Amino acid sequence: MISENSYARRCWAEIDLDALGRNFRALRAFLRPETAALAVVKADAYGHGDQQIGRALEEIGVDWFGVACLDEALSLRRAGCRKPILVFGYTPPELAGLLIEHDLTQTMYSAEYAEAMQGAGKRLQVHVKLDTGMRRIGFRCEEEADLAAVEAVYRDFTVTGIFSHFSCADELSPDSLAFTAGQYAKFAVACDYLQARGHDPGLRHCSASSALILHEDWQLDMVRMGIALVGIAPSPEIGTHIRLEPVLTWRARVVMVKDLEIGEAVSYGRAFRAEKRMRVATIPAGYADGYARAFTNKGHMLLHGRPVPVLGRVCMDYCVVDVTDVPEAKMGDAVTLAGQDGSEEITFDALAALSGTISHDRVCAISPRVPRAYFRGGGLVEVRDYLTAR
Ligand SMILES: *Cc1c(COP(=O)(O)O)cnc(C)c1O
Repeated sequence: MISENSYARRCWAEIDLDALGRNFRALRAFLRPETAALAVVKADAYGHGDQQIGRALEEIGVDWFGVACLDEALSLRRAGCRKPILVFGYTPPELAGLLIEHDLTQTMYSAEYAEAMQGAGKRLQVHVKLDTGMRRIGFRCEEEADLAAVEAVYRDFTVTGIFSHFSCADELSPDSLAFTAGQYAKFAVACDYLQARGHDPGLRHCSASSALILHEDWQLDMVRMGIALVGIAPSPEIGTHIRLEPVLTWRARVVMVKDLEIGEAVSYGRAFRAEKRMRVATIPAGYADGYARAFTNKGHMLLHGRPVPVLGRVCMDYCVVDVTDVPEAKMGDAVTLAGQDGSEEITFDALAALSGTISHDRVCAISPRVPRAYFRGGGLVEVRDYLTAR
């Protein structure tokens, strides 16, 4: 019933659920047996499709899910995911009932927020968030006086965990390494203090992808795996010693092939001019699909296993590539925007570097106009088309 026609029409993403499974097992094997694995599937599982990725991970033994907000948690529940879900961010106090009804765990991050959520009381399961240096959300924990507010949370709510987040765990300079170690130490001291005061801290967790790869001894009771699960290194600095495979391949169809005469310009602003006769192909992928305008005259795609450079401005719906060296290029061919084609590969790290950002940003930017097709054992098993599903 589902065929290539249901997704490979224009610009699409192919998601290899087997690769996801291999990444999960590779990361899992790196954890001590008693350390639980929380899969971070916020931002539509980093653009990979939260419901499909959530179900696949639940099947292969993930222990927890983490999301940024209530709606993401509800989306997972609608997909049938039953594992505990931690909401990292603010949920409006008026909606505390939804957290309880759907058995979600809320992050409790300030005295003011705890006060506002007071009405839910012990029916609400929470993880305490400590601010050890990120200065985003979380209870300060440097002084004993700061921890009085945290003790109140243990008294007033059902606390099943406590966590913190590192601000530069993906940087390897001595200064950053020292800062991260300082964050870890503050977290550990605060947990010990709470325990000594008779509170069961619950699941203690502080490592996301970078720290779990770099600092085996900080795994504690749980780690939060995000970008590494989808097979992307947390930062170019971390040449990971765990084998990770990219899960998502991004492709589009060639819609037109044509010749350019000397002096002719391509796309808006005539930002590229042909200095020789060239053959070019028009690709229906633009910044509205998540193919950044910053790739103007910089990026390249892969066609028949060869690199084809982007010429001129990337438009909202199109860009143009140079196929002079790919004489067999024709309408309907599949071109690879990110991923592998033959022996060539374009990584999200490379795309991020071209556009002055990080791979997380590039992969999350793949827009809802791009249908996601899911594969297992090389076969198509599901398609998520955000536009027709509305
Ligand atoms: C996004 C996020 C993560 C996951 O980070 P990765 O670097 O993608 O592994 C973990 N914890 C929190 C609180 C987050 O917001």
